[in-house]
Order: sequence, then C-alpha cells, then structure tokens
Amino acid sequence: MKPIYFDLDFGVTCIDTQHIRNDFVAAYLIEDNKRAAFVDTGCYLSVPMLLATLDEKNIKRENVDYIILTHIHLDHAGGAGELIKYLPNAKIIVHEYGANHLIDPSKLRSGVIKVYGELFFKQCLGDLIPVPKDKITIAKDFDNITLGERTLKFIDTPGHARHHICIWDEKSRGIFSGDTLGVSYRELDTTQGELIFPPTTPIQFDPDAWKNTLKQLMELQPKYAYLTHFNRIEFTQKSADMLIAHIDGFTNIAKQMQGHVNRHKAIKQTLLEYLLEIAKQHGVVLDETQQIKVFKGDLEICAQGLGVWLDKS
Ligand SMILES: [Zn+2]
Repeated sequence: MKPIYFDLDFGVTCIDTQHIRNDFVAAYLIEDNKRAAFVDTGCYLSVPMLLATLDEKNIKRENVDYIILTHIHLDHAGGAGELIKYLPNAKIIVHEYGANHLIDPSKLRSGVIKVYGELFFKQCLGDLIPVPKDKITIAKDFDNITLGERTLKFIDTPGHARHHICIWDEKSRGIFSGDTLGVSYRELDTTQGELIFPPTTPIQFDPDAWKNTLKQLMELQPKYAYLTHFNRIEFTQKSADMLIAHIDGFTNIAKQMQGHVNRHKAIKQTLLEYLLEIAKQHGVVLDETQQIKVFKGDLEICAQGLGVWLDKS
C-alpha cells in the first residue's frame, strides 16, 4: 500500500494510517534538525505506512528518537510494539497508566475484542505486539523532551481517557491532541469552519475532567490542534466552546435515555439524530447517507462509552 501523507509546515507531516477508511486516523511525524519522532502509530496494520513515509522522506530509521503515544487506545497506539522493532534508537513515551498495558497487552486485547468483536480485531487492527519494558519512558505532567532543536512538553489530560497525554509544540503553537481536542472530519468542513465533537469512548470518559483539561489547554493559547481524527485544524476558543457544548449534549442524551428498556440502542439512535442536526446547523452539504457513513465510525463507541459513564455515575 502506498503511503498517503500531508506535509504541514514546521516539519510536521500528517500520515493517513488508512485504518478502516482514508481521512479517519492520522499519525504524525515531526522532524527537527535531522531527528524525528512519531506521535501515535495507528494500529498494527498501519506500521508499513509509517515506515514507507520515512523512506519517501529520506529519514533514516536510526534517526527516529521517539514514538510518543497520546494514549493507548488501539487506533492510536496499536502499532507501537511492531513499529519499535524497526527503530533501533527510539523510545516509546506514554502516560504512566498506559505503560503496563503496552508491556503486557493481554487486557487491552481482550477489552478491545469485547467492544469490537474478534473479527474486527483480526481484520481491522491486525495484531498487538508487546513493547519491551526497557523501551518505555513515562511522560509525567509538564515533562519536556528535546527533538533536534525544539522542545515538546507533555501534559496530563484526563477526560477522554485517564491514560491520555497531549503534547505541546511551542514551535508551531500546536497541540498534538490525540482525542482530547475532539474529532473533526474534513468532509464536514463548511464556511462556518470545522465541526468538532467528543469521542466518548469506553471506559474512562469523564466529562468534568475533560472540561477542566480543555480549560488548561486553552491557557496555552494554541494556534493549531493536530487531531488524530483527522489532520491539523486551527483551534480557537470557539472550537473549545463547541467541543464543550457537545460534551454536554452527549451526556444529556445519555441521561435522558437512562431508564430506556434498550438503553444502548436508544442512546445510539438519539446520538445520530443529534449529530445530523448539528451538521445541518453547521451548513454541511453532504447528503445524509454520506454523513451517516462519516459518523458511523464513532457512533457505536460513543454510545457504549456513555453507557459505561451512566453506570459509574
Ligand atoms: Zn481514544
């Protein structure tokens, strides 16, 4: 498969990992003064795309210093164990709550199979390779690393998952945000800008923590968000407000459906209606069938995560 990538400025490349469909899951490559780092890896099946991107850009594998994982959900980190095999000098940087699941991925594997099913795991995620313990570095809140001549800062960012970090890149005034600054698909862009909504994935969705995290990240006065889903967008206070409004919108739906006999189905259906409505208000011109295709990748998972949150709260 040929790699698809987008050259952004400041030495950042957005790689389409081609997981499930195009324009859905990104990994990023940062180059600075001949040194390189990946932020997120996509899943196991995405690794050939990451290596091919290095080849096309003439970056030596031994010049990759870091594989930084925003969190350990498999569309972000599932390729880490495989990728590290090819990068002799790279360290994997991850939140302390994620590290053990990389070293022994059996729980991660069974959790994912429980949510997505065995067939999806095999066909869409491929495999999950353990990461050698000595390759892992824990990212503590406000830790810095140097890549070439730039500084990258890690920030502990609970809300989407407790094991989530964001990476602040002062050079581009951008945040490598994993899922913390929401998901936003380019197919839904309009003259009003980007449509952004929260992936309320199981099992650690925490709306209050998420809103606190957003407040903290906005204090950095970022210009860009490097979203995993999908690509770089300009991220303003308006973007943050939209995300917060939809975190509230999603949790309100969950609360309204609390006593429903088929709660999961009711949440999923109401969530779809909500997304189609906000797309309409946003002036999205894609026809409804196409919109449903775009939302489909998130709907089931968002509904499951809201169910888990209801049961906890
Ligand atoms: Zn996630």
